[in-house]
Amino acid sequence: MDDLGDSTRCVHAGQPAAVPGQPLAPGPVFAAPFHLHPKGVESGADGYGRMDSPSRRLLESAIGELEGGDCLVFGSGQAAINALLMTVLRPGDTLMMPSDGYYSVRIFAATTLAELGITTVEVPTAGPYPSMDGVRLVLLESPANPGLDVVDITRVAPAAHAAGALVAVDNTAATPLGQRPLDLGADVSVASATKAISGHSDLIMGYVATRSPELLAGMTKWRTLAGGISSPFDAWLARRSLSTLDLRLRAQTANAAALVEVLLADPLVTGVRWPGLPSDPSFEIASRQMRRIPGIVGFTLPSADHVEQFLRHSRFVAAATSFGGLHTSADRREQWGDSTPPGFVRLSCGIEDAADLVADVQRALSATRAG
Ligand SMILES: *Cc1c(COP(=O)(O)O)cnc(C)c1O
Repeated sequence: MDDLGDSTRCVHAGQPAAVPGQPLAPGPVFAAPFHLHPKGVESGADGYGRMDSPSRRLLESAIGELEGGDCLVFGSGQAAINALLMTVLRPGDTLMMPSDGYYSVRIFAATTLAELGITTVEVPTAGPYPSMDGVRLVLLESPANPGLDVVDITRVAPAAHAAGALVAVDNTAATPLGQRPLDLGADVSVASATKAISGHSDLIMGYVATRSPELLAGMTKWRTLAGGISSPFDAWLARRSLSTLDLRLRAQTANAAALVEVLLADPLVTGVRWPGLPSDPSFEIASRQMRRIPGIVGFTLPSADHVEQFLRHSRFVAAATSFGGLHTSADRREQWGDSTPPGFVRLSCGIEDAADLVADVQRALSATRAG
């Protein structure tokens, strides 16, 4: 599978063998309990939906093939990351995580993990990385959300392993078509499938992927006992959406390239960030490490008011959080507690036609400038 093109892999990954009379893509299987073998659950068939779901397994085989490991799907990205943290970390352990990474993971570390006696060391994604002696788990996020800094995973992972730490990478912004953390030396790839993987802004989901049988067993046990699963219908929707991931990402990246030019040319806009831009601080490592650059752009307007005006004047840029969907959307991150300037916007480029987006954003920016 790995030698095939991205769209071929997205359509065919984890697909069951063709059976005459059966659909090309199986529909969702709705079940809480399944019929048990009269001998009981030992017979190996599916038994109860919290542990077993044929629809979830189909999605897991597909994402697992794309990530290059075994995959477990959870009810949200947050549930997937917490499964990793709660499986690996014990009282007295130290977690190293990005200071500029996903905000609710940082809150979980500062509250629940701290209360459990787990110490957190925060490091900016771009580094410098301090000594990892005594660290149990290094969680990286690249590109980081929302700042879009990147880290050289092939450099940090060996240093972490030498210190006896495990390495996990939040692959949400990159997607497995953008980079495969397990190939770059990470023990776990973890992501929110709410974003580009499912990409239609209609479900919340997350996953982990790993090549370690011990970590897989630990996180499977955690999922069964903590109960943070996704529904068969959402798993089916996500598998359906995954088939077009390559097409969607291509359109989003092309739109980002076009909109970055508009933003750079506008006198109101500062701090344009996009790892695909040659002048961007992330460009060099991203070009080496990533197979494609996501359609997520950062920029700053003078104030929160300017962002409001920009959104009011725009026809196609929706005010919405999250990213990686079909619709172009903009999120003023400071309102959620990210330590970004009040006018900082994370722009998620959708799959609309570039010419329409360029005209719309130009128009909205000049109306904002006019006040
Ligand atoms: C959205 C996001 C998460 C959390 O995922 P949910 O599906 O919202 O629970 C984790 N990490 C990153 C980088 C994200 O963008």
